[in-house]
Amino acid sequence: MISRNGNTRKQRRERVQADVVVVGAGIVGSAIARRLSRYRVRTVLLEKHSDVCMGTSKSNNAHIVCGADCPPGKIETEIVVRSNSSYDRVTEELQVPYKRIGTAYVAIKDGEVRKLEAMQEAAAKNGVAGTRILGRDEILEIEPRLTGETRAALWVPHDGILAPYELGVALCENAAKNGVEIRTGCEVKGIDVENGAVGRVICNGTTVQTRVVINAAGLFADEISAMVGWDDFQLYPRRGEFYILDRKCRFLVNHIIYPLPGPITRGATICPTIDDNVLIGPTAVDVEDKRNTGTTREGLREVITGVQRYFPEIRPSMGVTQYAGLRPAGADDFIVAAHPEVRGFINAAGIRSTGISACLGVAERVEALLSEQMELRAKPDYNPFRERARRFGSCSPEEQDSLISRNVRYGRVVCRCETVTEQEILEAIYRVPRACDLDAVKRRTRAGMGRCQGGFCTTRVMSILSRELGLPMEMITKKGPGSEILKRPTKGASR
Ligand SMILES: Cc1cc2nc3c(=O)[nH]c(=O)nc-3n(C[C@H](O)[C@H](O)[C@H](O)COP(=O)(O)OP(=O)(O)OC[C@H]3O[C@@H](n4cnc5c(N)ncnc54)[C@H](O)[C@@H]3O)c2cc1C
Repeated sequence: MISRNGNTRKQRRERVQADVVVVGAGIVGSAIARRLSRYRVRTVLLEKHSDVCMGTSKSNNAHIVCGADCPPGKIETEIVVRSNSSYDRVTEELQVPYKRIGTAYVAIKDGEVRKLEAMQEAAAKNGVAGTRILGRDEILEIEPRLTGETRAALWVPHDGILAPYELGVALCENAAKNGVEIRTGCEVKGIDVENGAVGRVICNGTTVQTRVVINAAGLFADEISAMVGWDDFQLYPRRGEFYILDRKCRFLVNHIIYPLPGPITRGATICPTIDDNVLIGPTAVDVEDKRNTGTTREGLREVITGVQRYFPEIRPSMGVTQYAGLRPAGADDFIVAAHPEVRGFINAAGIRSTGISACLGVAERVEALLSEQMELRAKPDYNPFRERARRFGSCSPEEQDSLISRNVRYGRVVCRCETVTEQEILEAIYRVPRACDLDAVKRRTRAGMGRCQGGFCTTRVMSILSRELGLPMEMITKKGPGSEILKRPTKGASR
């Protein structure tokens, strides 16, 4: 039987042998795992949640930035700028939709107009060419819904959008195809150091013997690092809140629109999403609880008032959902380095505001560090390609007919808002890493992401999960153990 987190019950008690353990299947750990899957190295990716990409990597702006406004002289900036061109190739290999729609930093006050030139110079110093200052008419021509107070904008053509969790899942699927073992529901509790080198990684119920540990635990990377005595940095959460607007609002905006960046963050943005919703936010508020990803009334109000200065038509009622993400603040720069004393420990930590844009570059840097610790021999049969699961709703009527005639499950629509069929849910459940709860299915298929936010499809998806996983309905969860949806059968109701 398959348990809720996709592992067999027996595996949970196993002792596992690895060459490399990657801790954390966020976007960074997933990119590292895929990068290493090209070598003859036994790589095990450990994730404490029930699915991959459940941390900060699922709750962000989803921009692949080219580094125009990154802080000068930082490792972060170097990695973001250098890895930007890789996104075209990798998203093509993995069939992840990605569009370079460009960013406009919009000035609405005279004083701000003067800052645009300085921003352009800073971008050039970072190595970002091709930016342009647009006059009022030019920017209003491409963004006609912007406020009439618009004066000018800095145009950065290279920035793009994608769905980070789709990239994360795709990286993991491809890594798994190439031999990486992905263990969800596996929380690292300790790392043994023996004779100056990492040895055993202790998880809940599993022990992994390994030569190398790569720490990609996001907001918790300081805690993992402290397990081997590298404790000179602490991470704390900086919360950012967002609204997703209805697809009907897509006409509002064509590009990524930012105000001029403030001293702490880039400020609240408005942009289309890759799935044709509109995203507005985030805020930036330092908080204490690393696990609290709830939204707040004040935060959401701030998002609305912030973007209304640029797009006065925006109203809270346009929102279909809200969410919050936690940036790992506290480190002054990315920490991508090997432990100076403990052999076999590599940090990919402090990956704060640009991890989606930097993950491919971080993975390359980790690969270089690893090559100093072990021989990396290429696998002759490494396959960089991954086929995307069919999206029935995006097919032409002819393609839909043909799909249904070959497989009747394409004819059963489970989510009406997003036109997601039973066959797509099954694909999500059976591809590795497997979707074993509602949110995992939602992120892979969009079932439940539409206007009704799962009002129609939740019970239907639960029934399919229950049937396919061989679990009673009461054990089907929203996002892993502790988030069960049904408590018990209703009195007198038959199953
Ligand atoms: C509001 C906001 C907006 C952002 N916008 C952008 C943007 O537009 N573009 C961009 O490039 N970046 C953006 N970012 C930053 C980006 O989201 C992060 O840099 C990136 O997601 C970090 O990825 P990660 O893999 O390091 O961390 P995570 O995604 O948090 O992954 C770490 C993983 O480690 C796991 N883990 C932790 N502890 C353990 C343990 N003990 N055992 C096993 N597993 C463990 C966690 O469960 C998690 O899955 C934004 C962030 C926020 C919050």
